[in-house]
Amino acid sequence: MSDNDRVLISGAGPVGCSAALYLAKRGIPVTLVEAAADLPEDLRASTFHPPTLDMLDELGVVDKVIEQGIVCPVWQYRDTREGVVAEWDLSVLENDTGHPYRVQCEQYKLTRIIVAELQQMDNVEVLFEAKGTGVSQDDETVTLSAETLEGPRELCGKYLIAADGASSVIRISQGIEFPGLTFPELWLCTSSEFNFEDHFENLAPIAYIADPNFWFVFVRVPGLWRLLLPSRPGETAESLVSDATVQERMQQVCPIEGDYDTFHRTAYAVHQRVAETYRRGRVFLAGDAAHINNPLGGMGMNGGIHDALNLSEKLVKVWNGKAVDSELDKYDAQRRPIAIDYVQQTTIRNKAMLEETDPDARRRKHDEMSASAADPKLARDYLLQSSMITALKRAEALA
Ligand SMILES: Cc1cc2nc3c(=O)[nH]c(=O)nc-3n(C[C@H](O)[C@H](O)[C@H](O)COP(=O)(O)OP(=O)(O)OC[C@H]3O[C@@H](n4cnc5c(N)ncnc54)[C@H](O)[C@@H]3O)c2cc1C
Repeated sequence: MSDNDRVLISGAGPVGCSAALYLAKRGIPVTLVEAAADLPEDLRASTFHPPTLDMLDELGVVDKVIEQGIVCPVWQYRDTREGVVAEWDLSVLENDTGHPYRVQCEQYKLTRIIVAELQQMDNVEVLFEAKGTGVSQDDETVTLSAETLEGPRELCGKYLIAADGASSVIRISQGIEFPGLTFPELWLCTSSEFNFEDHFENLAPIAYIADPNFWFVFVRVPGLWRLLLPSRPGETAESLVSDATVQERMQQVCPIEGDYDTFHRTAYAVHQRVAETYRRGRVFLAGDAAHINNPLGGMGMNGGIHDALNLSEKLVKVWNGKAVDSELDKYDAQRRPIAIDYVQQTTIRNKAMLEETDPDARRRKHDEMSASAADPKLARDYLLQSSMITALKRAEALA
């Protein structure tokens, strides 16, 4: 085997790490390249959906994720005035998945679990402080140029997975467009040890709270509640994370005497974009490098891990001579339509529903949702969709 006989992966986020572990466990040599000095402690994704947990089970890491997270069999849709509109009980999916619940666990815990395992494997090289800067390829190989602590390096492989996030250097270097939109408002994500469950009756660990003027989302992670909400017109990232604004918004969510203690606060621009192709020759885009969406519904990381396993399965077949190169085109053919027709549409709809201002439309949607949640068959249909199981089945059918 030559040194070029390996798969290069740029980016050790949840997507790059999942692909690396899948490939390495099947005997494929992997080089995982991460720009940061250590695994980023990202306070972004926390929701793992049932089919993603099934995949992490296949990777042999689900028990650790569950151990370090919170199992959530139920999530809620609420309204600031009405309280609980619908309570979704994932146990209706018991015949559809090995994990009929969501798990709330910070994404950095998954990457730490996986990288610890990768670092024990003989066929894996994990490089930190190695930043991919450009790509060249021919009929046989692909070369990733990287800036490392020792200076510039050229890393050679058979294939390259670009899992280097939303601003993917590789996507840009390949001239792949990333069309879509950016919402005018910023989003604030903050977290606190405050016991919101003592102030909101029967609060589930994941709750989307609709309001025409002030919607927000509660998600529980071990030891903390996270709160996600939009900025007001004219607010900047700096003003949104200021003490004054954070306290004012949290008091609006739940008035208390004195100030809230917060653990973190971040302001994000939020986009809805899908790359015009997921493949250019030996280079494949996956995860946020390929698609980004708002976090309402928890589909970014989950969809990215679904990309990682879909692509890796195909790479293994081609690597082992069980399929020809055209098998790899199916990755784009299966995963891109899902991002466009399903993830983009669902997340945009989720946002529109939370911020609906027309009282009649809101009433109609709430009535519909509450009736569905109360009917086991309708609830199952809804949860197959919101848990991304339907999307995975649809992708399979696109083969
Ligand atoms: C507030 C918030 C909440 C969210 N909640 C959820 C949720 O609950 N569920 C969900 O599914 N999604 C959620 N998301 C989305 C989720 O965080 C992303 O979809 C996910 O992180 C994408 O994973 P990734 O591995 O593709 O990219 P990233 O996590 O962005 O990882 C990319 C990695 O590549 C590295 N990198 C970047 N450039 C280079 C380079 N040139 N060379 C080498 N390495 C490089 C980075 O340092 C990073 O480690 C949320 C997002 C936000 C903002």
